[in-house]
Amino acid sequence: MNIAKHVKEFQSVAQKNDVKIVAVSKTKPPEDIMQAYQAGQTIFGENKAQELVSKYESLPREITWHMIGHLQRNKVKYIVPFVDLIQSVDSLRLLKEVNKQAAKIDRKVNVLLQIHIAEEESKFGFSQEEVLELLNSQEIRNFKNITIKGLMGMATFTDDTHQVRKEFRSLKSFFEQIRSGFDLENVSMEELSMGMSGDYQIAIEEGSTMIRVGSSIFGSRNY
Ligand SMILES: *Cc1c(COP(=O)(O)O)cnc(C)c1O
Repeated sequence: MNIAKHVKEFQSVAQKNDVKIVAVSKTKPPEDIMQAYQAGQTIFGENKAQELVSKYESLPREITWHMIGHLQRNKVKYIVPFVDLIQSVDSLRLLKEVNKQAAKIDRKVNVLLQIHIAEEESKFGFSQEEVLELLNSQEIRNFKNITIKGLMGMATFTDDTHQVRKEFRSLKSFFEQIRSGFDLENVSMEELSMGMSGDYQIAIEEGSTMIRVGSSIFGSRNY
C-alpha cells in the first residue's frame, strides 16, 4: 500500500471539492499513521477510545484526532482532554457525559450528532425526531462545554447507489433544516460528515463537507 500516494490523491479530492479528509487509522500501526502524516495528512479518525488515547500519546502533537466510533460513557473522560471532534455522539446521555467531563477540565469540546440514516438496524445514531426534540429542549441550553458542529451519518452498506444517494440526500436536507431553523449558542452547523472509501464520491455530490477514508488510504484492515 502506498500510503503517501493515496494521501496525495485525497488531498486533490479535498481541494477540488472543498471537503476535509479524515484518515481513518483504526487497527493500523503508528508507522502507517506517520507515513500519512509525513505526506501532509493531519486529521486522523479512530473508533476505539483506548486506541485513540495510545496513538495520541505516542504520535506528534500536531495531529488532530477525531473519535468516529461508538463511545461508551465511561470512556469519555479519557478522550475529552485532547480530542478535536467527537463525530459519533449518538445519544442524549452521551452528550451529557461529554459536557460533564469537558466542564471538569474547563474545555469546550466539538461534537457531531450521529444520525441514523441507514436501513440496517445495527447502526447507531439519533433519529431526526430525536434531534429536533433535543434542539427544542431547555436542556441543550445548559450544555456550556460542548459545541455541536454538525451531523455525521453512515449510509447502508450496499451496492445500490440509488439507496446510498437517497440516504445522503436526506441527511443533507435535514442538516440544512437545522442550520436555518435554530439559533442556539452551542450549535454551529458547519460540518456534514458523510462518505467513506466506498461511497465518498456520492457523498460529495450530495453535499458532504467531511469524508472519512480508511481502506482507500491505508489498505484493507485485518481484524
Ligand atoms: C471504519 C470507518 C470508516 C472508514 O471506512 P473505510 O471503508 O475503510 O473507508 C468511516 N467511518 C466510520 C464511522 C468507520 O467506522
